[in-house]
Amino acid sequence: MIDIEHISKHYVVDSTAIPAISDINLHIEKGEIFGIIGASGAGKSTLIRTLNLLERPDSGRILVDGSDITKFSKTELLSYRREAGMIFQHFNLIGAKTVADNIRFPLKLTGNYAEVEMDARVSELLELVELTEHRDKYPAQLSGGQKQRVGIARSLANHPKLLLCDEATSALDPQTTQSILRLLRDINQRFGLTIVLITHEMDVIRAVCDRVAVLDKGAVVEQGQVTEVLLHPRH
Ligand code: ADP
Repeated sequence: MIDIEHISKHYVVDSTAIPAISDINLHIEKGEIFGIIGASGAGKSTLIRTLNLLERPDSGRILVDGSDITKFSKTELLSYRREAGMIFQHFNLIGAKTVADNIRFPLKLTGNYAEVEMDARVSELLELVELTEHRDKYPAQLSGGQKQRVGIARSLANHPKLLLCDEATSALDPQTTQSILRLLRDINQRFGLTIVLITHEMDVIRAVCDRVAVLDKGAVVEQGQVTEVLLHPRH
């Protein structure tokens, strides 16, 4: 369960303050798929990146299961980040590593696993995202949808409780988008994983989200069940 309380964040460019998000309040339930939609520049990326503190808010609290992550020590933050996986619009895979090694990478970073344990986990994840026969390929040899499947497998490696999706299907064609969204829904249901996604596409919200918040100029202007917000949109 995540409670975002009075979160604001601005950037400074050439000594000018640019407000990105202002006084955001959101409640995200454990196990739900929560969508954040808005036009370009609305503050979506900034907001989702505060949830793993890739962006540190200027003010406000982010309570995850009751603990304020903005108060975490370095060590606490490191272990929290393992529980908060993230996938990206442009996949962010390591081009010089194979599919299997990309997925293995976050496991290796922990220093907690023996080689055989990592082998087993990588095989399990490859199966989950249906890429077993592509395990020895490099990212450049894969389609966009396959690259995002690698991104998803990698993000799940350390058994996260939360998955953050930053425009994860925006670089994909409609058919591939649907298959990636089905995979996310499947993972959400099988593992009870909480998913927070940002998108500028209403179709993505309609396809997978339970609840949605509409962001405009850095503020939440509407939020609720997807069916209600889509049936009676105010924005
Ligand atoms: P969205 O993801 O909805 O497109 P962003 O969170 O990227 O919105 O941006 C919100 C606002 O913050 C925009 O005005 C954008 O120009 C500004 N912004 C975002 N990132 C930076 C940055 N690193 N430096 C300066 N301004 C930024």
